[in-house]
Amino acid sequence: NALTPPNFIKSIIEEDLRSGKVKEVVTRFPPEPNGYMHIGHVRAIFIDFALADEFGGRTNLRFDDTNPAKEDVEYVNSIKEDIKWLGFQWDNQYYASDYFDEMYNRAVLLINKGLAYVDDQSADEIRENRGTLTEPGKNSPYRDRSVEENLDLFTRMKNGEFKNGERVLRAKIDMASPNINLRDPVIYRISHTTHHNTGDKWCIYPMYTFAHPLEDAIEGVTHSLCSLEFEDQRPFYDWVVRECEMEAQPRQYEFGRLNVSTMVTSKRKLRKLVEENLVDGWDDPRMPTVSGMRRRGYTPEAIKSFIYETGISRSQGLIDIQTLEHFVREDLKLKAPRTMAVLRPLKVVITNYPEGESELLPAENNTENEEMGIRQIPFSREIYIEQDDFMEEPPSKYFRLFPGNEVRLKHAYFIKCHDFIKDENGEVVEIHCTYDPATKSGSDFNARKVKGTIHWVDASSAVPAEFRLYEPLLGEDEESEELAADETNDVSADEVDDFLKKVNKDSMEVVQGFVEPQLKDAQPQDKFQFFRHGYFNVDPKLSEPGKPVFGRIVSMKSSFKL
Ligand code: ATP
Ligand code: MG
Ligand code: MG
Repeated sequence: NALTPPNFIKSIIEEDLRSGKVKEVVTRFPPEPNGYMHIGHVRAIFIDFALADEFGGRTNLRFDDTNPAKEDVEYVNSIKEDIKWLGFQWDNQYYASDYFDEMYNRAVLLINKGLAYVDDQSADEIRENRGTLTEPGKNSPYRDRSVEENLDLFTRMKNGEFKNGERVLRAKIDMASPNINLRDPVIYRISHTTHHNTGDKWCIYPMYTFAHPLEDAIEGVTHSLCSLEFEDQRPFYDWVVRECEMEAQPRQYEFGRLNVSTMVTSKRKLRKLVEENLVDGWDDPRMPTVSGMRRRGYTPEAIKSFIYETGISRSQGLIDIQTLEHFVREDLKLKAPRTMAVLRPLKVVITNYPEGESELLPAENNTENEEMGIRQIPFSREIYIEQDDFMEEPPSKYFRLFPGNEVRLKHAYFIKCHDFIKDENGEVVEIHCTYDPATKSGSDFNARKVKGTIHWVDASSAVPAEFRLYEPLLGEDEESEELAADETNDVSADEVDDFLKKVNKDSMEVVQGFVEPQLKDAQPQDKFQFFRHGYFNVDPKLSEPGKPVFGRIVSMKSSFKL
């Protein structure tokens, strides 16, 4: 059983191993610890880890902490937890900042080779002089500084003699290159910021595009796999490995980003949702983060099936969220016990059932998985059904309860409505029915048929429970991101504001109902299928012993509508 589907990177690796170009596959997953991992990262994690595993290779977890301002141990810890939860194990854990000395030395090497220079232009000037797709850039007036002057200035940059932004170190390549990334990219910048790992040792920091190929080479990464927006950076990646005279020769290969409809995959937008308290943290069950999906009740198996089946290719189309939901249902189908829960209760009195008596009715825990056994459900004179399952004046084709109509109670009896009670506001608050003992479930009764089957719980023994029903945070077509692979491939502040306006503020409904008695002891992360309502997870953050809170993972396939 292959760990990854057929894909172009696998073919490359097979060829590299066959030809002896590489002896062992080494990959890395290089997250920036500035947020929680989301569904898009899962594709990257899957590709990096599963491909290496498939060939008995190694995967490093490398925290890309070259930007001193943003990192946080909370993020480092969540990333590690998420990778483990997904079922992957890294071989070594590194920080990009572990290599700052080496990176500095390689930059000095470039200066000595006449391949890097200190530029005094401002960031704006550098941007202006970069040119466009159709126009070449303009050489910096500082481009032809001598090696000695560059060495002196770079040393002084390092020693903290200049303010932020006063000078940068640039690779000296070609200001007329058709690839804008080769127009003398900045490789070091000044930032007087304390770094979580190196403290105040440095006030200059390497740019990501310079640092990344060096990190890969230092670690002996053979296949450096990244998302497609880095494609235009590949020539610079190769330039750095070559000109910095790195011994190892890592190669970069790009795969398509994963975009899923209704799922936001920008860390900056996700962070904003958290900061603005529009969600209950990074692990809110509506969040497309790994921790959110975990709390929602998605399983690692379901998520990995989804990643596997949607393939590893260079295409980055938008994948429908229903595809992911399909794999969640597929995984839970045989695993989750099937029970009954009433989300919006309406009391039913079975008037011909003897008062004070009760009985236990056997019910299969999973009709598709006999191994899950049978439970006994209490039944007595008073039960709860869904408010939706009764109508005083039903439209045609309504086969549930209404005056004079008979329905089947799942696992129990037929009941027929003969009366109902309204409160002073005209709301129906109680239904009166009779049951027919001859129709007991499992008795092969077939003297007459009913069209509707509804679920219920026994009023005296049912356990009160809270249910949370989720809708997507975003509408269907809101999310599809084009990112550029520069230092800040983050979206702009305007975009974030715009995004906040589109967020569905009514994406969670909280209702109070009842579950079968045995669910009182449900443990955090236990999963159930509630008949007709879908799959639910016991919320690990909100549940208390004996007081479970059930969040809907996913509804049943054909959602139950009138
Ligand atoms: P940032 O804007 O903070 O850089 P990022 O989403 O790029 O956000 P990283 O931590 O840099 O986050 O990403 C780690 C890895 O995950 C990178 O190799 C990146 O290519 C990959 N990745 C990120 N988003 C996706 C996505 N939607 N699909 C596939 N891979 C992704
Ligand atoms: Mg990044
Ligand atoms: Mg990125």
